[in-house]
Amino acid sequence: MTVSDPTAKPAESADPESAVETARRQLERAATHLDVDAGIVERLRHPTSVYRVTVPLERDDGSREMYTGYRAHHDSGRGPYKGGLRYHPDVSEEECIGLSMWMTWKCAVMDIPFGGGKGGVVVDPKELSADERERLTRRFAEELRPVIGPMRDIPAPDMGTDPQTMAWFMDAYSMQEGETTPGVVTGKPPVIGGSYGREEAPGRSVGIVTREAMDYYDWDREETTVAVQGFGSVGANAARYLDDLGASVVAVSDVDGGIYDPDGLDTNDVEDHDETPGMVSGYDAPETLTNDELLELDVDVLIPAAIGNVLTAENARDVSADIIVEGANGPTTSSADEIFEERGIHVIPDIIANAGGVTVSYFEWLQDINRRKWRLERVNEELETEMLRAWNAVRKEYEARDVTWRDATYIVALERVADVHETRGLWP
Ligand code: NAD
Repeated sequence: MTVSDPTAKPAESADPESAVETARRQLERAATHLDVDAGIVERLRHPTSVYRVTVPLERDDGSREMYTGYRAHHDSGRGPYKGGLRYHPDVSEEECIGLSMWMTWKCAVMDIPFGGGKGGVVVDPKELSADERERLTRRFAEELRPVIGPMRDIPAPDMGTDPQTMAWFMDAYSMQEGETTPGVVTGKPPVIGGSYGREEAPGRSVGIVTREAMDYYDWDREETTVAVQGFGSVGANAARYLDDLGASVVAVSDVDGGIYDPDGLDTNDVEDHDETPGMVSGYDAPETLTNDELLELDVDVLIPAAIGNVLTAENARDVSADIIVEGANGPTTSSADEIFEERGIHVIPDIIANAGGVTVSYFEWLQDINRRKWRLERVNEELETEMLRAWNAVRKEYEARDVTWRDATYIVALERVADVHETRGLWP
């Protein structure tokens, strides 16, 4: 395992808005509103450590291939590092650092006793057989074993990984440690210590936060129109939650394109990405549209829930929604954010909107450590309580400081993290 220099400047990227750059800008902006020690802000611009590992894999044909894996640890002042593992060809050190910073803020906004981590392997999982994915995951778990653990760093699924990946990861770690350790990862299948409601939680929290925003602006739910980009785990669960609430979900999309019905789609009838890939664009709807057209639709609420950096300086002036609720991580670049602020479009940021995922991961970790399973009703009740607590803390800052929703959310998060650093002091 190699430990990269965590203070090194990130490699130049073709995208001027890499995750780490966006994350740093957001941190610096929030800091201007708070009286936080400059040394603490500087510390939080950098990760604690970044680990780079080589993961050798024996392919099914007997050949050997090497893959690169990363795990970034941003901050553990509030508790063990927490964050997903991505299997994707674009995984990079700087992406992991940026995403690990967002995890620190996400856990802090939700007041969960975790810090921020993120990792992944540079691989296209679709090019591997199930057996190869299992071998890759087991070896990756072994390479990371010295720096993870239920009280140290708790990975979870992300793009390209799923509950089965977490099951292999947990099994590999447990076999080497000599004891069954379900708390080393979250997002596992319920049969081995996963939590009921975990899969639906990020989409559900997007729905809850959208509901609160609609109520805050006194909108009639039945009159509210919604467009959702990305009808996967987050997007489909958010769309169905809002549809069930009475809102009119007029457009949804997947990677191949979108569908549109001005009278509202029956979102329970449209199969999501996981159920049947390609079903969204193949669905019999009155109209089809491209992903770019969906982002510019004249709707009340736009929920980008697919990938990062889809709202940019190029299309921000053409967005017609009144509120954007970020389902995906980092869908809005900083320059688009400035345009939205200038145009009076409210953006409810990812670090609160999709935080239901990490919140139910925390519930899962509690269940694993206590060896006591919760019923789905309890999970959803406690998620509702935690989301409202976070929303109310953010709303208070929004009203008191007359800032954007994103700034208000970062202010809540940074204040909590900085407070911990201030109180614990600097070692040695
Ligand atoms: P998913 O794979 O279940 O679904 C992604 C959806 O987006 C699919 O419908 C896919 O077809 C579509 N898509 C992919 N590329 C696209 C493109 N270029 N244009 C339009 N659509 C595209 O993924 P998910 O778990 O729903 O995650 C979506 C986003 O939410 C990611 O940014 C992820 O990091 C974030 N997120 C996920 C979770 C979680 O626990 N699932 C939690 C928090 C945040």
